[in-house]
Amino acid sequence: MIIDAHAHSFPDVSEPCGFDNVESHMRSIQIHFTGYPQRARRAADNAQVAEDTLYDGKNEGISGLFDVNWRVGKYGRFEWTRGGVDYRMTWMPPLMREKTEFPLDVLIAYMDLADVDKAVLHNAYVYGMLNDYLGECVRQYPDRLRAVAQITESRADQESEILELRRAVKELGLVGLYFQTEALFLNDYEFHLASERLNPLWEEVRALRIPVLWNLRPDSQPRRESYVNQFRRVGIWARRYPDIQSVVTHGFNVRYIIDSGGRATVPDEMVEVLKLPNVTFELLFHIMQGGVWDYPYPEAQEVIKFLYRRLGASKLVWGSDIPSSLPRCTYQQSLNYVRQHCTFISPSDMDLILGGNAAALFRFQ
Ligand SMILES: [Zn+2]
Repeated sequence: MIIDAHAHSFPDVSEPCGFDNVESHMRSIQIHFTGYPQRARRAADNAQVAEDTLYDGKNEGISGLFDVNWRVGKYGRFEWTRGGVDYRMTWMPPLMREKTEFPLDVLIAYMDLADVDKAVLHNAYVYGMLNDYLGECVRQYPDRLRAVAQITESRADQESEILELRRAVKELGLVGLYFQTEALFLNDYEFHLASERLNPLWEEVRALRIPVLWNLRPDSQPRRESYVNQFRRVGIWARRYPDIQSVVTHGFNVRYIIDSGGRATVPDEMVEVLKLPNVTFELLFHIMQGGVWDYPYPEAQEVIKFLYRRLGASKLVWGSDIPSSLPRCTYQQSLNYVRQHCTFISPSDMDLILGGNAAALFRFQ
């Protein structure tokens, strides 16, 4: 049985999608792309641009964000304007011509094409605040899908968010909490994931018996140090809540751990965090380098070999992040660089990584 531990379905992202208004949604998308591996392109000549056009390059929070009229374009692109110059970036397959959306029946068709049996639908700001939408997805395919909840992280110390999480789990049937550190940009990173003021939230997570899915992003400069610091905070949290399971999603943000020779080296301190018994790691490397690494990703296979030997198969789950992966590789390739090319993994361990571990974490059994 193959389970994709990281997939998406979402409505037209140019809409509010669960936010109060379109502006709030657009701002939340813009912050995500301040740290994107892919460079912006000038609309006039498609040339890549190195300078920061989305934020001041210093302040990672909302106060550093430029006003650029961020908008959703055609062909899976975002577009914006800075200093009278139009820029764009392709996020999704250009086949998304008029609308950037990924209806559930299309995801299911991709899963059927690649013989992926089941999938876990992630929630994230860029797509919207989609608890109700994802609850409906799971109701349509109760045997094939699970989904995780999202709250407004910048208000995660307030009762309203705890009640929303409880509703998402108990009424909508969602089975985890997606917690993205970049969403704290809204309060300029006033607190972080291991801050004591979030203890009531984690007590609720514990009572609901659900895992937490971390999306770790730097929250200060220099970004490399900040990225490692986010892992340090996960370590503090995981030791404080040993009975709550968690998943570090999106693999590594490789550019923060790469050396001058282009080789990804995982700092010991990060390995120690991943070794904690309640921390699982999502193998997702085919998009994180923004197309610099190419299929079958031998550089990623080296990192996977390292993690497999240091952590063991029970600590790893495979995820694709479809459909944002599709401009980089096919859905089958996002699976096969692990399944067919990581030949150092035994068949029984491969079963765990491609399905068994996710089945236990996300209540497929
Ligand atoms: Zn995703």
